[in-house]
Amino acid sequence: MAYFPTIGLEIHAELKTKSKMFCSCANNPDEKKANINICPICTAQPGTLPVINKEAVRKVIKTGLALNCRISEHSKFDRKNYFYPDLPKAYQISQYYLPFCQNGYLKINNRKIRIREIHLEEDTGKLIHPQGADYSLVDFNRAGIPLMELVTEPDIHSAKEAKKFAEELRLIFRYLDVSDANMEKGQMRCEVNISLNKDPKKLGVKVEIKNLNSFRAVEKGIDYEIERQTKMLESRKKIIQETRGWNNVKEITFSQREKEEAHDYRYFPEPDLPMIKILTR
Ligand SMILES: [Zn+2]
Repeated sequence: MAYFPTIGLEIHAELKTKSKMFCSCANNPDEKKANINICPICTAQPGTLPVINKEAVRKVIKTGLALNCRISEHSKFDRKNYFYPDLPKAYQISQYYLPFCQNGYLKINNRKIRIREIHLEEDTGKLIHPQGADYSLVDFNRAGIPLMELVTEPDIHSAKEAKKFAEELRLIFRYLDVSDANMEKGQMRCEVNISLNKDPKKLGVKVEIKNLNSFRAVEKGIDYEIERQTKMLESRKKIIQETRGWNNVKEITFSQREKEEAHDYRYFPEPDLPMIKILTR
């Protein structure tokens, strides 16, 4: 291969807790009726305040310990600001400055894949687009469900390795009983960052692939991008930094939008939640 792929993964997993991240609504992934598990907090009514779910914090730390991470002594939550109809507050409570877990690794085929961080945030609602309709529906049952995000360093170099990493991670999540990590139910979601360069030590222009909802899609999506970007580079076309979606039927990626930078989200410390001090024995 003339070009060397460098891959990083961002993996989201919904945590298995009784209640949501910042309110006492049920965290029930099997609820069929829309907008049942909702309250003034997770639908962002004025004057409501969040309360941290301790069990969710415990599960993220447990995962971090299993993945050889350094657990932060002090941690806090931050606001990630963006507007979208599935996000009632118009910001997501997430972690940006002091994630719970940092600098871990997972060995795949006897090679360390470094884990940059594992942080805790809340999931968004779900948009439903009825076929042929000129409107969309929104279900807030999922809004506020504790969501763990794991970010790797760009240490992966093939589609097979990425798939294997995600599969191993699912096994660990299930063994620790922190998440059911069922990809078909959206309890585990993978995003891939991929870039190509002739020099294996250098990165190229980073392209992100979203909506990879199976291990097969992770593998196929990466293989497709390697082929697409190789063709472009060989014909001296410029690759743009962007977010691409995955079409499961055609098995191709497609351009969604140009990638946002962290500063576009105007992260700032969440003023409604206290700092957290973590004591690990
Ligand atoms: Zn609620």
